[in-house]
This record gives sequence, structure tokens and C-alpha cells, in this order.
Amino acid sequence: MFFDASKTWLGTAIGALVAAAVASGGARAAAAAPRVMATTSVVADLVRQVGGDRVEVECLMGAGIDPHSYRATPRDADRLSRARLVVASGLHLEGKIADLLTRLARRTPVVAVADGLPRERLLAVSDGLFDPHVWFDAALWSGCVPPVRDALVALDPGGAEAYRGRADDYVRRLAALDERVRARLAGIPQRRRVLVTAHDAFRYFGRAYGVEVVGVQGTSTESEAGLADINRLVDLVASRGIPAVFVETSVSDRNVAALREGARARGHAVGIGGTLYSDSLGGPGSGAETLEAALEANVETIVKALAGNGATP
Ligand code: ZN
Repeated sequence: MFFDASKTWLGTAIGALVAAAVASGGARAAAAAPRVMATTSVVADLVRQVGGDRVEVECLMGAGIDPHSYRATPRDADRLSRARLVVASGLHLEGKIADLLTRLARRTPVVAVADGLPRERLLAVSDGLFDPHVWFDAALWSGCVPPVRDALVALDPGGAEAYRGRADDYVRRLAALDERVRARLAGIPQRRRVLVTAHDAFRYFGRAYGVEVVGVQGTSTESEAGLADINRLVDLVASRGIPAVFVETSVSDRNVAALREGARARGHAVGIGGTLYSDSLGGPGSGAETLEAALEANVETIVKALAGNGATP
């Protein structure tokens, strides 16, 4: 009887000690690794590059999700409210959750990385709005590193030196990537250096690297391509002998299919040059989980297809 009581007490004490150890361990981990919520996979990568293992990065929208049309679920609101910092892409990319982010900003720091880019480096869309797809211009994207670095330093001053070092290193890597991409694409003959794809996600990419970019759809996936747009594109593709058009991981390829159909009716076969990462990076195991890898993958896909050998009929 006594023995049993003692065992019970002992058991309880050990249980309490274990619970206390778990709790303090948990508290330490939380203090050492603040939880940062990024809206898109592109932004999550940016935060990971600068934050390293000092931060715990969660991504609101998984790989392959279209940020233009994304609406937050009740669970998202809960996840966002538990973050100590929220990092968005900005320039109205996350159009449908803008109100949620504004409300959230009253009590949690919210940084929209592209909103601070110099206006003269942005491409206008319409009355005061700018094209939000800034990440596939590696040099422009490096301008989104400082806001992340500064937000992390403010959140976790003990890591200031680490964040600054990682940010500098990442900016250097983006500069090297920028040069590599430009050199690689310069190998495609000028006349064929035309990227026809589902929506206008590559205008900065085209401007940076000398590629003519034509989207079948507008800058947002929210707008439908009209028949006149499709016919204009059929003309372009047929007259220039463009061998391939591209589909995107996060966008429906319905409009691309209509374009190919139209070209076929005109006697010009257009292949699918491959799938490009646009508003989302690749999922786990894709080999395109980082912006650097996704941009390189896109460039290889484009070079193969437009050199005339990589397109499937
Ligand atoms: Zn887009």
C-alpha cells in the first residue's frame, strides 16, 4: 500500500519534471526561432535565405497555388495570428487577402517586400498599379532582401549579425545568378527569344534578360483572355515561327490550349516548351524549391524549347 503510494508520488514527480523540461525546452525553442509566416513560396524562400535556422518559416500558400485568387480560410487567419512577423510579396499580388493583412498589421508586423522597391524600376499595369511579379529579375529581387533583413533584426536583435551576413551573401549570389541567366539566354537567336505563356508573370524577367514576353492572359490570373487577344497571339506565333509556348505550374493552361488550337488551324504547329515556375516555386523534391533553382530551371526549359529541340508537338 505504502509502496504503491510512493510509486504514485514518484511517478507524478517524474511526470512533472518531464513536463517542466518539455515546457522550458519549448519556450527556449520559441525564443530562439521566432515563427515567421510568408504568404507565397517565393517569399518564404527569401525569408529562409536571410533568416537561416534562426527563424521558423511557414508558408501560407503551398507550391502550385495561385496567389492572385487565393482566399484565406479560417485556419489561415489562425496561423497568421500566431506568427510574430508576416512577410508578403506586395504590389497587390495577394489581392484577395489584402484586407486580412491590413487588419493583422494593427498588432503584428507585416512587411510587403516589393512595396519598397523604387517606383522607377517597376513596370506599370494601370492607374497607379504596378506589375507584382518582380522575383524573376534576380537583380530587382535583391532589392527585396533589405526589408526582410531589417524586419528580422527588429524581431530578433540577437541575430542581427547573422541576418546581415546572410543577407549580404544572398545579394551576392543573386548578382551572380543574374549574370549567369543573362549569358545563358543570350545564346537563343534574337528572333526566337519570345516567351509566350499563360499569364503576364515574366515581364520583369523579359526586360532584365532581353526576352520578348507575351502573356495570353493579363498580369493577374483573374482576367480572362479575349478571343481578339488569342487571335493576335496566333498571328505572332505563326508569323515568327515560334516553336513553343509555355505553361505555368500555378495557372490553368486553358488559354494556352486555345492558342495552340488557333495556330494549328493556321497550319503552324506549336509545341509546349515545358512548364515554367511563375507565381510559385516547386514543391518538396522538385529540385526547384528555391528561387535560384526555379529561375535556373525556367531558363533551361526556355533555352531547350526555343533552340527548337526541346518542344513536344
Ligand atoms: Zn501572377
